[in-house]
Amino acid sequence: MAEVEPGISIHRLQLPIPNSPLEYVNAYLVQGNNGHLLIDTGWNTEEAFDSLKKQLAEIGISGEDISQIIVTHVHPDHYGLAGELKHLYGAKLALHHLEKDFIESRYINMDELLNQIARWLHINGAPPDELPELQTASLPMRRFVTPILPDVTLYGGETISAGYFNFKVLWTPGHASGHICLYEPTRKILFSGDHILPNITPHIGLHPQSSTNPLGDYLDSLNGLKQLDVQLVLPGHEHPFTDFKPRIEEIIQHHQRRNREILSALKANPKTAYQIATEITWMSNIKGVGWDKLGPWDRRMAVMETLAHLEAMRAKGELDKFTREDIIYYSTTR
Ligand SMILES: [Zn+2]
Ligand SMILES: [Zn+2]
Repeated sequence: MAEVEPGISIHRLQLPIPNSPLEYVNAYLVQGNNGHLLIDTGWNTEEAFDSLKKQLAEIGISGEDISQIIVTHVHPDHYGLAGELKHLYGAKLALHHLEKDFIESRYINMDELLNQIARWLHINGAPPDELPELQTASLPMRRFVTPILPDVTLYGGETISAGYFNFKVLWTPGHASGHICLYEPTRKILFSGDHILPNITPHIGLHPQSSTNPLGDYLDSLNGLKQLDVQLVLPGHEHPFTDFKPRIEEIIQHHQRRNREILSALKANPKTAYQIATEITWMSNIKGVGWDKLGPWDRRMAVMETLAHLEAMRAKGELDKFTREDIIYYSTTR
């Protein structure tokens, strides 16, 4: 792939995602003096790996030249190929300590997490007949990941150098608990992972492994980035863009609209997160389709997103919740 800007030795590698409306994930190759840096890796499919090798060859680089890999978070589209690349080429892998903690439970021994998800779906109102397919909806992703532990564990605040660049590691929780962005202050470039995308609103979900208020975390870390001087954003999906601060404002407004929609769904009587999710217009990741058309994966994502909103509003005192016969209901405080 071409350099992201002439004279800047950063190359965007677009790697295909199987059966996804996102189509591809962006990995970025930063040319260094003694080995190169790869930011995110794509899924472990033959197609994605072939595409990575082909795009590297086009810029005259072979896998052996990659000495460092940084993964913004351990979702399969960003982390899936990391294990394979490390086995083959010996590159050192770095990721945030909170993401490291999920590798075993999500990709190696999944039984406990599956039990937690079943319980979580039940108490949040998922109908019993739908529960098994919602519970196992993420299992097909497992085969696109070769799990591997990092060589370097990040906490945020570190500086990682490659070629002309010194990248500051910024911990940006929300989309994932240990999500990181990389900021290059001299060139004013931000690698935003899935934290900020140009058109799609990143998925923020509450689930058994998230924090208790992931949307609150997300908005805090989004607001925290506003102070940065950023001229070019290199995101994990879609395309590079320059209107950094206006895009942050748009995302904040989207979440405010969604809050209002949820409040109006709760006007008449208390509801479960699942019930509310069935009444929301899903426009972002799930392109404006009604609940009946959503598959188990999208339904589960929708319940997770609804819960993230509900708990963020509850933290602000706008909603209450109560448990009746083992099921959690949300209600307005007014
Ligand atoms: Zn992600
Ligand atoms: Zn992603």
